[in-house]
Amino acid sequence: MANNELAEVSIDSLLKENRKFLPNKKFSENYILKDYNTYKRMYNSSIKDPKKFWEKMAATHLVFFKKWRSVFKWKDYKAEWFIGATLNISYNCLDRHVNSDRKNKAALIWEGEPGDVKTYTYQQLYSEVMICANMLKSLGLVAGDKAAIYMPLIPEAMIAMLACTRIGVVHTVVFGGFSSNSLRDRIQDSGCKILFTADGGFRKGSVVKMKEMADEALLETSTIKNVIVVKRTSEKVNMKTGRDLWWHEYSAKQAKVCEAIPLSSEHPLFILYTSGTTGKPKGLLHTTAGYLLGATVTTKYLFDIKETDIYWCTADVGWITGHSYVVYGPLSNGATVFMYEGAPTFPEPDRFWKMISDHKVTTLYTAPTAIRSFIRLGNEYPLKHDLSSLRLLGTVGEPINPEAWIWYNEVIGKKKCPIVDTWWQTETGAAMIAPFPGIMATKPGSATNPFFGIEPVILKKDGTKAKGNEGGYLCIKNPWPYMARTIYGDHDRYKKTYWKEIEGHYFTGDGAHQDKEGYFWIMGRVDDVINVSGHRLGTMEIESAAVHHPSIAECAVVGRPDPIKGQGIVAFITLKKSEKVNSHLKEDISKFIVKEIGTLARPDDIRFTEALPKTRSGKIMRRLLRELATTGVIKGDTTTLEDFSVLEKLREKDED
Ligand code: ATP
Ligand code: MG
Repeated sequence: MANNELAEVSIDSLLKENRKFLPNKKFSENYILKDYNTYKRMYNSSIKDPKKFWEKMAATHLVFFKKWRSVFKWKDYKAEWFIGATLNISYNCLDRHVNSDRKNKAALIWEGEPGDVKTYTYQQLYSEVMICANMLKSLGLVAGDKAAIYMPLIPEAMIAMLACTRIGVVHTVVFGGFSSNSLRDRIQDSGCKILFTADGGFRKGSVVKMKEMADEALLETSTIKNVIVVKRTSEKVNMKTGRDLWWHEYSAKQAKVCEAIPLSSEHPLFILYTSGTTGKPKGLLHTTAGYLLGATVTTKYLFDIKETDIYWCTADVGWITGHSYVVYGPLSNGATVFMYEGAPTFPEPDRFWKMISDHKVTTLYTAPTAIRSFIRLGNEYPLKHDLSSLRLLGTVGEPINPEAWIWYNEVIGKKKCPIVDTWWQTETGAAMIAPFPGIMATKPGSATNPFFGIEPVILKKDGTKAKGNEGGYLCIKNPWPYMARTIYGDHDRYKKTYWKEIEGHYFTGDGAHQDKEGYFWIMGRVDDVINVSGHRLGTMEIESAAVHHPSIAECAVVGRPDPIKGQGIVAFITLKKSEKVNSHLKEDISKFIVKEIGTLARPDDIRFTEALPKTRSGKIMRRLLRELATTGVIKGDTTTLEDFSVLEKLREKDED
């Protein structure tokens, strides 16, 4: 929390978004649930008796080696699900498909940035995973040990993750775009014994020297005994004798078979650090059975996985979205995953659309930041390609502004693909609030309804429920199977951050409100709420109103102290590529926002910028803009910032 204190008052909602889209009939006909009432019935029973519900889901969707004694225990803020059972994640993602008709089905279709393509059938992926697990074993790793994965988005990243799960090694994937310092911090925090990396990775046509960065990180870490290096770019790299091993050489020496070992339901699966949007990243620990169950069933119901789908979640495996929806969710469902190594606009801004057309991608799951940047570039790029294979579109990571939603629906989905806006967090493990496609009407900017077994509530500080469509703190009523069990090494912080803010509820840190039909609208981070003349405004609504302006591509609003109003609004704005700043534009934008949502939201200051500061997963870092607008200096944690030059440019402007 910004002030370590929750404010008494609620969050005011100003945005009037009344558009509503009924489910597409053709889509509905083939969807797993018959209609909305079926969802409602299932949802109600999942809330009435969650143990019974999850037990049934687990028995239906996962393979356990040994059944559980009891379903759930919650003591001292420690959750246990499926107690006494054993299972193995790689068994669920691979063996069970290899033992079925899916044996020769493509598990992974991968395209590198230079255009090289590789396909792995389930059988092939299974073989590679077993060999990789044997590499780990031969280096002395046993269940409970930790491995860091710092790689480009290449098949070996997925293989290494699955190999860890095969023998119970806990992985921590560090996004390949992070610097050596971030890698070092994460290795130190989690105490990894081994590091998977690559010589380099391709990004925007150049080579990122990953091994060099890894070497630097390892100068200040003491726990890593070995480094396994994939040859990707053929960079010249230093291989430290006795420590560093080439993947292709060392794997050739391994036995081909490695049985999946039975692990208890609560066996630690991975540690993953949050995006760092609001502060220093936290290492969340997820465990085996509950996490896999969440990833599996949310993928099945929300993305309507069919045998013939080519499913593409554009996230890097360094983020939770990549864990749950590039690797574990789709593979557990036996889907065909598409993966792309490089930048979305390389060599041309149409790269995404070209690949969708080339590989006949059916499902695209991406982030609002990507959608906004495509809008900024112009429609000619998607319009050049045949996107008719697409049948479902998803979004995650930030609130999607209604205008971006409409563009996604029209220009990419051609008004025939359901838009599945999924709200969730690293902590929640998998999707929590999202439309069940085909049976739920959608509203641009609303993540709609909760997933089965999840009971979101909007609360005020005292724990009472917000009334009507009043905005408040989005909380979750009870523990659920796929939530993080702790912050690695700091259970007190876990308790305090998530369960003590409003006693007895999981505290998400996001603000939200519910409309008359019960739909949930995420209004932005609680930390980012702006207090104007006693009215507390979420950032999402003001930004969405601004983005509706025809010249604007992106907008971030923050508050700064104001002697009269308490806080004034500062709007940082990027324009569409085709637009230029002119003398009327500020006034015009200001009027536009006032007309859209009211005088209260009138910006006190509008600043044009070429880019906004974002995390490496593409989220706007309002806290840095707030510091800049308030004090002109930035002291907060910037380790997750994507591009430091953005800050420099903003600072220069500030000094003008
Ligand atoms: P940190 O916790 O370190 O500040 P972070 O919250 O950005 O970083 P993640 O776990 O990657 O880390 O992101 C989860 C957050 O992203 C949510 O709390 C929410 O603010 C935002 N978010 C994700 N999906 C959506 C969505 N569909 N609609 C609105 N907000 C979303
Ligand atoms: Mg967070």
